[in-house]
Amino acid sequence: MSRHHVVIIGSGFGGLFATQKLKRADVEITLISRTSHHLFQPLLYQVATGVLSTGEIAPTTREVLRRQRNVTTLLGDVTDIDLTTKVVTSQVLGRATKTSYDSLILATGAGQSYFGNDHFSNFAPGMKSIDDALELRARIFGAFEIAELQTDPEDIKLLQTFVVVGAGPTGVEMAGQIAELAHRSLIHEYRNIDTRKSRIILIDGAPAILPTFGEKLGAKAAKRLTKMGVEIKTNAMVTDVDIDGIVVKYADGHEERIGAVCKIWAAGVSASPLAAMVGKQAGAEVDRAGRVAVLPDLTLPDHPEVFVVGDMATLDKLPGVAQVAIQGGRYAAQRIMDRLNGKPTDKPFHYHDKGNLATVSRFSAVADIGRFQFSGFFAWVIWLAVHLFYIIGFKKRLTTLLHWAVSFLGRSRSERAVTEQQATAREALELLGENWNAFQPSHQSDEKPEKGRPG
Ligand SMILES: Cc1cc2nc3c(=O)[nH]c(=O)nc-3n(C[C@H](O)[C@H](O)[C@H](O)COP(=O)(O)OP(=O)(O)OC[C@H]3O[C@@H](n4cnc5c(N)ncnc54)[C@H](O)[C@@H]3O)c2cc1C
Repeated sequence: MSRHHVVIIGSGFGGLFATQKLKRADVEITLISRTSHHLFQPLLYQVATGVLSTGEIAPTTREVLRRQRNVTTLLGDVTDIDLTTKVVTSQVLGRATKTSYDSLILATGAGQSYFGNDHFSNFAPGMKSIDDALELRARIFGAFEIAELQTDPEDIKLLQTFVVVGAGPTGVEMAGQIAELAHRSLIHEYRNIDTRKSRIILIDGAPAILPTFGEKLGAKAAKRLTKMGVEIKTNAMVTDVDIDGIVVKYADGHEERIGAVCKIWAAGVSASPLAAMVGKQAGAEVDRAGRVAVLPDLTLPDHPEVFVVGDMATLDKLPGVAQVAIQGGRYAAQRIMDRLNGKPTDKPFHYHDKGNLATVSRFSAVADIGRFQFSGFFAWVIWLAVHLFYIIGFKKRLTTLLHWAVSFLGRSRSERAVTEQQATAREALELLGENWNAFQPSHQSDEKPEKGRPG
């Protein structure tokens, strides 16, 4: 292979948009990702609450890129990157693949952080993947199903209490959707329980919800959520989580135990471990969230051929949002093309802030766009248009629109199927033990990598 070889790791926002930007470039691209799909994370909560199907927010990467002839898509969990030999090692079911590169774009994002309390994850799953969203769907709808079977009012109360930890956009959207389920969508479906009696509690350690949207929009969202029946507890740090409850400590020092079977973790992120791996090799700093500090052109010190973009990189306190990853991915691709075309490449990355959006309920959102702040229906229309625009593929846009009409104009949630496997996913994996891993290598490939071809 004589063409310049670009390896892109991750099929999320940074990786996919970088790949597409290189469509007409005279390069060979290998896109390696641990999932075979691209994931539109901002709508995961709608999969968890039965509004959308997984296919609408997770198109298969291979299909999205089928017409881009200069890209090869590989499934693989990248476990090693050697910046000196320029070789990436990825693993699938014990098979190691080595791929060498001329340029590397690293975009493996971030995972959930439990701030050192990883055991909370069994009782309060986060929402980072399709697996997470389907498991949460099973837990949310499952809680109503089991409540219907109970006779003890205390058990029913435990099952009808939903706690969402973290009042950023994800937590607010999740709490709003569960409130709509309980107070609107499901009200005629059960005979022994009254879903309207459900408690939905939103907890955050900060003094207000949606801190990145400013005081005014945060207060408007809080007012709307309260009207929908969501209890908001701020200045509240979670100190323990177990099978049927959560313990919070308030700023004044008092502690409260809230009984709840269904808990959802929407607080804190931790960058992909690959950020620390390359940071160590390049002598770049790694911050407390595990993000590697990149140079103004998104490269690593002394490694102009390695770009790190999106949630796993830190530069000028840029937020961990989709637009930073999209623009970073496109910028890295452009820099590679400029170098190959002998054009100047000294222009630093400049982030164009397109604003923040979060839905609170159907027909109500908050939008912080430049100097303008909106809330209510108008903000919701902007939210709808922007999200529809970024959903990949015409067919998926159409079915998403249809699902939204069904859920928001009507009461129905058409994507409520849950399986036993989804419901027990986390516990089942726990039972298999910590050494179990689908990607555990049983052997290492000892083949020498060919340039640009998997070994
Ligand atoms: C629930 C939720 C809601 C959100 N809502 C919003 C929102 O409303 N607006 C907004 O702007 N942002 C939102 N975000 C943030 C936004 O989704 C992220 O900032 C964005 O996805 C970051 O893009 P990325 O390319 O850095 O990483 P990601 O999109 O996370 O992509 C990472 C990719 O790397 C792959 N990968 C990870 N590790 C490996 C490995 N070792 N080997 C191979 N592949 C690997 C993953 O499979 C994935 O394909 C939300 C995030 C979440 C989780």
